[in-house]
Amino acid sequence: MAKYFGTYGVRGKLGLLTPEFVSGMCAAFAAYIGGGKVVVGTDTRTSREMVKHAAIAGLISAGCEVVDLGVAASPTVEFEAKRSGAAGGVIVTASHNPPEWNALKLMGREGIGISREKGEAIEKVFESGKIRRAEWSELKEVARYELASREHADAILAKTDVKAVKKRAPFVVLDCGNGVAGAFAPRLFRELGCKVVTLNAQADGFFPGRNSEPTRENVSGLVACVKALSADLGIAWDGDGDRVIFVDEKGGYVWGDKSFALCAKIRLREGKGAVVTTVATGNVVKEVAEKAGGRIDYVPVGAPYIAERMAKTGAVLGGEEVGGVVWPEISFGKDGFMTAAKVVEETCRAGKPLSRLIGELPGFFNAKSKVDAGSGDKARTLAAIRKEFSREPGARANVVDGIRLDFPGGAWVIARPSGTENYFRVFSEARTRDEADALLSKYKRKVEEIVGRTGRK
Ligand code: MG
Repeated sequence: MAKYFGTYGVRGKLGLLTPEFVSGMCAAFAAYIGGGKVVVGTDTRTSREMVKHAAIAGLISAGCEVVDLGVAASPTVEFEAKRSGAAGGVIVTASHNPPEWNALKLMGREGIGISREKGEAIEKVFESGKIRRAEWSELKEVARYELASREHADAILAKTDVKAVKKRAPFVVLDCGNGVAGAFAPRLFRELGCKVVTLNAQADGFFPGRNSEPTRENVSGLVACVKALSADLGIAWDGDGDRVIFVDEKGGYVWGDKSFALCAKIRLREGKGAVVTTVATGNVVKEVAEKAGGRIDYVPVGAPYIAERMAKTGAVLGGEEVGGVVWPEISFGKDGFMTAAKVVEETCRAGKPLSRLIGELPGFFNAKSKVDAGSGDKARTLAAIRKEFSREPGARANVVDGIRLDFPGGAWVIARPSGTENYFRVFSEARTRDEADALLSKYKRKVEEIVGRTGRK
């Protein structure tokens, strides 16, 4: 079990992320990847310079050369890592967490995120204290590179139908959440041919405009603005720009699984193939992908698993239900800017408002809960849950992460251990609210019973 690594890197407050810890962990990471060139970027948090310099010191001490991109979106760092053939990458960002947090998102070759399992190997090196440090004569340089954002934007423009967007010149409101999007998105969407109004576009590590996670509650200002200005759509990013959500022309909040499904529709029209997603993703994506001639390939929850699978199989698209889509021609990381550009392109190409495009997708209802995992062995409890769930008649079981049961007709339920807390997450989805709620309460009760039996020491 990883002590520090979560689904994508090491996240914490400054009590954990001291300069000593960051430098040591990055030296262990450098040893793990065997040296070479590492690209480094940060979001807009107040702790960014402290954490970044500690990270760079650790990387150089263990023989890496560093390309410092400065403040850069996570998808820009992932793009640059892949484009430049770097041995690895470090993104100093806590994504959508509150401002007092920070984190190290670590990537290996091709900008593929370091999964929890690989993180465990790095932790072992870190805890052993046995890291070969470079001699004075072997120490490499740090180079500043200022063009990554420009090149990333150009790559997005090259893969988007700019002509179709320019013809319609949609009016978009961009809520950059005081994060990295402010220095990237307004210019990109003007170049794409949109009329742009911005909210919270100034970089500010206190996130004064709104909380960094683009939830429905947090983007109420954007919703009000889209309505007041009669804009065609609103777009909001999280702190590091990998996640994006949309607000339609009526002020309706569009859930991440719907925009992901729309992206699958766009992508599979451009070319057929597999869409990689996590077992926690709703069936709207699956139905849309299968109808468009694609197929779904499920991986465990966590962005690095999506990246690993896509690089291995040549899948045409990947993503998570929270509003992050991976476009492999750009990078193997979730790219909130490419995703937004493609959604804008689709409204222009189809000549339909976003609410219509979303309304044409299949509708599902979901219900979520969690069950305390108790003090017993979580793996043993999970094995018991899998055994009991597998007995369900008529359901198709998938044990990629926890256990997911798919029922005929599109309803499904999943129970999986949380990666960060002592819980089992239970999640259900169905075509009616009643059915989703009934499924959730039935399977939540089963999990509670099993934890009651096996979840004690
Ligand atoms: Mg993020």
